[in-house]
Amino acid sequence: MTAAPRRLLLLGHPVAHSLSPVFQNAALRALDSDLRYEALDVPPERFAETFRTLALDGAAGNVTVPYKAAAAEACDQIMPLARRVGAVNTFWTVGGRLVGDNTDVGGFHAAARALLGAEPRELRVALLGAGGAAAAVLAAVAEWPASTVAVWNRSPDRAVRLAAAYPGVATAAEFLATAVRGADLVVNATTVGMRDDDVPFHPAILARRAAVLDLVYRPGETAWVRLARARGLRAADGLTMLVEQGALAFERWLGVPPDRAAMWAALRRTAAGASR
Ligand code: NAP
Repeated sequence: MTAAPRRLLLLGHPVAHSLSPVFQNAALRALDSDLRYEALDVPPERFAETFRTLALDGAAGNVTVPYKAAAAEACDQIMPLARRVGAVNTFWTVGGRLVGDNTDVGGFHAAARALLGAEPRELRVALLGAGGAAAAVLAAVAEWPASTVAVWNRSPDRAVRLAAAYPGVATAAEFLATAVRGADLVVNATTVGMRDDDVPFHPAILARRAAVLDLVYRPGETAWVRLARARGLRAADGLTMLVEQGALAFERWLGVPPDRAAMWAALRRTAAGASR
């Protein structure tokens, strides 16, 4: 059976900037739990050993950039969705075995549903990026009824490799001219906009009905989201996905859903403190 975790950890490199401790600890406090969620910066040469040692010593938690694929390799068992995506972002132990899952897929689905105001279906999706986040997006969209995806990536070979796992996914050579202009939903799963006000492309070329979902998040929203809203488009950054993937992980570790209102309140307090 699933063991109650002794510690909750986020393993990554770097992790100091992560907002996960802010909202996970708020949810733990709301549950009157003594557990605390800690971020741990692990250097690459020590990841595999540290991950297994901590987990088998009773830790559960998350894995983030750049270790999601390495975590999938290091687990004793990975859930089918994580196998499909090739990445583990959530782990726990069952009977002394290290189990991994991927909650980014569910987090992305929840973020898209929130942005669209309905269960996603019959959508033409244009996806930018071919890394771990893009793989989670493709796995989610593959379950949406009557929907199609076109993928673009700076390094085209990576987009072709990723799309090969999903029948019918186009890797549009004329991406901006075709897939993006005709899209109902455009998703940025690249790192563009993480550190500055760079944007993947100007949203002026999008159709009026298009919704824009940026998986990147940063204080004050991303420039891409601001530009899209200024054009009158529905747009959201990656915060909802972040909270929802975290909420799904919380439920795996503790068997109960977290208090999402407490999570969002903690994030708002942090944002207000940062802007002071
Ligand atoms: P990753 O595996 O390292 O992939 C990075 C992607 O960004 C690749 O497609 C890469 O293209 C592309 N890229 C990097 N620099 C670029 C540039 N200057 N121009 C165009 N494309 C560029 O990273 P990831 O894990 O997929 O994460 C991608 C983004 O999603 C990050 O910003 C991350 O914070 C965000 N994310 C958010 C959530 C959330 O919960 N909101 C969850 C996961 C990830 P190449 O292949 O050509 O290098």
